[in-house]
Amino acid sequence: MEKVILIRYGEIHLKGRNRPFFEKRLLNNIKKALQDIPDVKVTRAQGRYYVENYADEKAVIQALTRVFGIVSISPAYKIEKDFELLTEYSKKSIEHLLFDLQKEELTFKVESRRADKRFPMDSMEINRELGARLLKAFPQLKVDVHKPEVLLNVEIREFCYLYHQSIPCAGGMPVGTNGKAVLLLSGGIDSPVAGWMIAKRGVELTAVHYHSFPYTSDRSKEKVIDLAGILTRYTGSMRLHIVPFTRIQQELYENCPDEQLTILMRRFMMKIAEEIARREGAAALITGESIGQVASQTLEGLVVTNHAVSIPVFRPLIGFDKIDIMNLAQTIGTYETSILPYEDCCTVFTPRHPVTHPRLDKILKSEMLINGDELIQEALDNTELVEL
Ligand code: ATP
Ligand code: MG
Repeated sequence: MEKVILIRYGEIHLKGRNRPFFEKRLLNNIKKALQDIPDVKVTRAQGRYYVENYADEKAVIQALTRVFGIVSISPAYKIEKDFELLTEYSKKSIEHLLFDLQKEELTFKVESRRADKRFPMDSMEINRELGARLLKAFPQLKVDVHKPEVLLNVEIREFCYLYHQSIPCAGGMPVGTNGKAVLLLSGGIDSPVAGWMIAKRGVELTAVHYHSFPYTSDRSKEKVIDLAGILTRYTGSMRLHIVPFTRIQQELYENCPDEQLTILMRRFMMKIAEEIARREGAAALITGESIGQVASQTLEGLVVTNHAVSIPVFRPLIGFDKIDIMNLAQTIGTYETSILPYEDCCTVFTPRHPVTHPRLDKILKSEMLINGDELIQEALDNTELVEL
């Protein structure tokens, strides 16, 4: 007997001829997610993956629930195809369950699948005979074929797999199967969630953060590195470009109308991100913007910001309420870090009365007041790269 974890994957079945590519990528991502588990083995057989040879089951499960492309997992007993052995381990499972659940009575059902037709009993026979043996062994058990509390699954394949639990995982598609995008990652609540959502669709992320030293501290930079680190639990790895932004902000502050500062600044963020995307071979930008959430995110604000670049900009949170974003941030584990109270570069040069209905012609005119190209080049030249 061996304990294994059985991995099911979903949407990638839909990909027809691309399937081997998706499966290979998923396998790599699984291996990466488990790289800290000593001696662990991951194999594939008949449209499934199996994780074997680990001591810390909890750690393996936790890592796997975050790998995009996995639909669900089941910790299982892997045993030889022998009905006596199957009975023995089924009893063991029920014993554990009765102990864990502390129940006087437990309803169950056996559900078997026989992929290996050479096995002498068919699935109906296995269900019936195993069910009968368990009923005999445990007076607490009762059969319920419609809504059993415990569904004991038996799969007869190259081995016999026995399990009673199916743990839902992140779903989505394997990261790296749908190209690459640049995430504008602030220290706030929204942008990590936006990145997570796009990564879930199989897109590899490269992050960009604008840092306004000394107006923003090293701790605020550390916070963003931490957030990117949390995202790598899902994405495997990530490059984070930390772009010095102070000079641009100062130039805007000294030369442009106060009420336009936020929009102007946001346009510079987009332009720099577009150039980083070009260098990284990324096809789109991602932001955490949502309509109307703050002054710069009115519909007009978003439109004028968008005009700064020609690359597509994905805003997966565009129609989300803040409360829903916060809930999602909590689920994915970024919330606690996002709410740490370090200043953000946007809060430093925030105008007292920001324009909520900016006009593109006016904004373009203001932009002419500073030497944008040179400032962008300087910011890019001084960008720091963190590999996570
Ligand atoms: P967030 O919670 O993601 O910071 P927000 O509600 O504070 O968003 P803004 O500050 O207007 O809204 O930022 C809108 C988007 O612009 C962010 O979601 C993020 O994608 C990007 N952004 C803002 N500040 C930065 C920054 N310092 N570095 C990188 N991207 C940023
Ligand atoms: Mg912010």
